[in-house]
Amino acid sequence: MSERNTDDARTDANERPADRTGPDGDEQFRSWTESSGTGTVNIKDMSKVYDADGGDLTAVDGMDLHIEAEEFVTVLGPSGCGKSTVMECVAGYLDPTEGEVLVNGEPVDGPDPSRGVVFQENRLFPWKTINENVRFGPQMRDAVDENRVETLFDQMGLEGFENSYPHELSGGMQQRAELARLLANDPDIMLMDEPFSGLDAMTKELMQEKLLDVWEDDDRTVLFITHDVEEAILLADRVVVMTARPGRVKDVIDVDLDRPRDTDVVTTDRFKELQRRANESIHEEAERAMEQAEGRA
Ligand code: ADP
Repeated sequence: MSERNTDDARTDANERPADRTGPDGDEQFRSWTESSGTGTVNIKDMSKVYDADGGDLTAVDGMDLHIEAEEFVTVLGPSGCGKSTVMECVAGYLDPTEGEVLVNGEPVDGPDPSRGVVFQENRLFPWKTINENVRFGPQMRDAVDENRVETLFDQMGLEGFENSYPHELSGGMQQRAELARLLANDPDIMLMDEPFSGLDAMTKELMQEKLLDVWEDDDRTVLFITHDVEEAILLADRVVVMTARPGRVKDVIDVDLDRPRDTDVVTTDRFKELQRRANESIHEEAERAMEQAEGRA
């Protein structure tokens, strides 16, 4: 079994071997245990408390997660457990109340084009054509790469729709245009918050395959939020299961399925085994989340 419990993993990572205590203390210890190069994300003991109507609401409490460069990590958790909050702290839209989020070894200080964000609702400008939307980010930095834009239109199957407006495209095509818009900035890290959950099953499957193709071709880190167990396993190198609110890491599941992958992998025995494992882990949290939503917890 390649699965491991996160609590065990965290304990191992936090144990400082006696013979490795260097003169620079914690900084040196960090460099021994965690990479901090381009594309790494390190969430350290992060908590987020919102000022809600009924008083303080602790959305995330003591979240620890290290993501290696070029790793594909999915975060799986019930609705309201703090998944988006974590992602928005990595994106730089929100500040953690406690703890820290490091990207490339540096504390996050606001949004940056090297961290591209995709939400369920696309952020295309409705008054701009698809071409104008895709070019917008690089144009703002005077960095339009014509070859890159052309390749993206081809890769996303958007040729012929360059001059269309978002409302003229289907939901799936809008999300492909959204992916093209994100990739035009050539981000090191892609932050994706349930990007396909508003799509019908068939379109969702096509988008998952498109994303796997894009990720397998490029060197990017992906942090992908979902509440869909099948999607979480299909895409990821590791599935991080969160507890119900306040969210923290409950479990980490290594996905040892071969790459390149396509959606056929869901019929394999190993996939089903991983799915059972993830379902077991999330079941209790989903029940707690439902009780919270009904005001029973
Ligand atoms: P998820 O993405 O897992 O559905 P969220 O991160 O969106 O969870 O939200 C976690 C909890 O924090 C929820 O209970 C939500 O209602 C609450 N929350 C999110 N944003 C705010 C906010 N701006 N003010 C108050 N509460 C918030």
